[in-house]
Amino acid sequence: MDLSNYIETIENYPEDGISFRDITPLMADGEAYRAAINQIVDYAEGKKVDVVCGPEARGFIVGCPVAYELGVGFVPARKKDKLPRETVEASYGLEYGEDVIQIHQADIKEGQKVLIVDDLLATGGTVKATIELVNRLGGEVVGAAFLIELISLKGREKIQEYDIFSLMKYD
Ligand code: IMP
Repeated sequence: MDLSNYIETIENYPEDGISFRDITPLMADGEAYRAAINQIVDYAEGKKVDVVCGPEARGFIVGCPVAYELGVGFVPARKKDKLPRETVEASYGLEYGEDVIQIHQADIKEGQKVLIVDDLLATGGTVKATIELVNRLGGEVVGAAFLIELISLKGREKIQEYDIFSLMKYD
């Protein structure tokens, strides 16, 4: 099954010059969604993952079914002030300005093996900040998995010391 048939490209969205890769057709198709999740689960087998961590919001859509299938927990990384308990936070650069991402301090335990999952790797800022939070809490990042990698944005270079897996690659 060619999963790229389920990715729509929207030109000039959300702004001029951007080709937005839309994963919602893939999610809307039960067979394609399951095939995509199963490929990430296969990648994770053997890594002895203790917990999956994914950034909002599309990281939940991909990360939660992976965690469920692996039989481990899921830790959400959220935008600032969305989580109610004590958090750790990291900031990362956006095209204009910066954003802050947080996770609950108690949700990652020292020595846990953590798989990071998101829908898409672009510049790598989001995943790098998520990894930083996991590391600060003593977790060990054993891999980072994505449905899509935008090669020309070179996100991979920002996290080159980690094992990275992507199902589909676009320029
Ligand atoms: P990065 O931080 O530049 O790597 O951007 C990755 C984050 O932005 C991910 O959490 C994605 O959900 C989101 N993102 C960036 N570009 C796209 C896109 O073309 N389609 C869907 N999500 C995107």
